[in-house]
Amino acid sequence: MSNTYDTVVVGAGVFGAWTTWHLLRAGQRVLLVDKYGPASARASSGGETRVIRMAYGPDEIYTRMAQQSLPAWKDFFARTGNPGLFRQAGVLWLAAAEDASAAQSVAVLTRNGIRHEVLDHDTLAQRYPQIAVPPGGWGIFEPESGGLFARRAVQAIVEDLLHAGVEFRLAAVDPPVGDAHLAEIRTDSGEAIRADRFVFACGPWLGSVLPDVLAERIFPTRQEVFYFGTAGDRRFCPPGLPIWLDFGRDYYGFPDIDGRGFKVAHDAHGEAFDPDTLERLPTLARIAHARGFLARRFPALAAAPLLATEVCQYENTWNGDFVIDRHPALDNVWIVGGGSGHGFKHGPAVGAYLVGRMLGDAPAEPRFSIATKQGVQKREVH
Ligand SMILES: Cc1cc2nc3c(=O)[nH]c(=O)nc-3n(C[C@H](O)[C@H](O)[C@H](O)COP(=O)(O)OP(=O)(O)OC[C@H]3O[C@@H](n4cnc5c(N)ncnc54)[C@H](O)[C@@H]3O)c2cc1C
Repeated sequence: MSNTYDTVVVGAGVFGAWTTWHLLRAGQRVLLVDKYGPASARASSGGETRVIRMAYGPDEIYTRMAQQSLPAWKDFFARTGNPGLFRQAGVLWLAAAEDASAAQSVAVLTRNGIRHEVLDHDTLAQRYPQIAVPPGGWGIFEPESGGLFARRAVQAIVEDLLHAGVEFRLAAVDPPVGDAHLAEIRTDSGEAIRADRFVFACGPWLGSVLPDVLAERIFPTRQEVFYFGTAGDRRFCPPGLPIWLDFGRDYYGFPDIDGRGFKVAHDAHGEAFDPDTLERLPTLARIAHARGFLARRFPALAAAPLLATEVCQYENTWNGDFVIDRHPALDNVWIVGGGSGHGFKHGPAVGAYLVGRMLGDAPAEPRFSIATKQGVQKREVH
């Protein structure tokens, strides 16, 4: 008896959605399942906006994936009548005087033919007087990069998939049980779903859905995002200011787009986080920390009112490399995740890579293998 579905994809975040998109293009009959719905407020993909930039220090593999993904996002938005879901605000990397990662980025951007401008201290300070530039500080500006409206983008992909014939089920999938080959999965309502192959794209839940493989290898951490009021000050709205990254101080953010506020996100890993049960209330300590950062980097906003907050989670691997691999014990089960605070932008390239491995003979990238994932956190990729 043949199965109803060629592939079942569990998880409708950015990775599950783009994987399904590529499976559909390969002619597959696909069922997409999610326990809270596509890019819900609990999912890592459920935030308002995500940065898409090309600079990745020495990690050229991610530069190339971002370079592959940006036109795919833009094509998708143009084709589906959603061009506003990408905002070409430009991305500015604020580098410190001795910044090996930024220097390596310049070499990688140049080698890959990616448009960018290196701004020395005085040029940076003159062009953006609203930024406090410390002695020796400099910048890298990527004019073609920008921001993705994350939750709405994933929901637009799923809507497009449904129009094209993909089925969707709102259900929680139990951890798979099988010996060498998985015949079916079961949902919390007891339904059994059969398919030739299964993809688990469960973001921060991967450790609980696949405990034998990933319980010790995915580290969900609490992350807080703040939106401060700019009162329409043009210096803090595009095109007066691009999206900015200050890795030296573990912060990045957006100018005030569409009146949402000036976004400030703390990129340092927070406490361990359970995405099902924990409340998403910001902490006074982190608000004060963000204000301290504003006072030093964007002094005119030091006393700006806090308008809105988001509490989300990163689903970190030990070093920030993704996990995209076949299940070690079940030959028709595949795993994709470990976006580690930087995965969103890469959705199109991640889906293409996974489908190339599942259905074709695309070579395996060792950095994405389960075997390279360690049980101790030591962040390297940003
Ligand atoms: C605050 C914050 C800022 C970020 N900033 C950026 C950025 O600027 N740029 C960037 O590129 N990346 C960024 N990221 C990272 C990026 O958002 C994530 O890496 C990415 O969204 C992860 O997508 P995912 O599909 O793996 O997981 P998710 O989006 O979490 O999706 C997993 C899905 O699986 C479903 N699921 C789980 N378990 C089950 C089950 N048992 N049965 C059925 N369904 C299930 C969930 O409901 C969920 O919808 C950021 C992340 C955060 C939290």
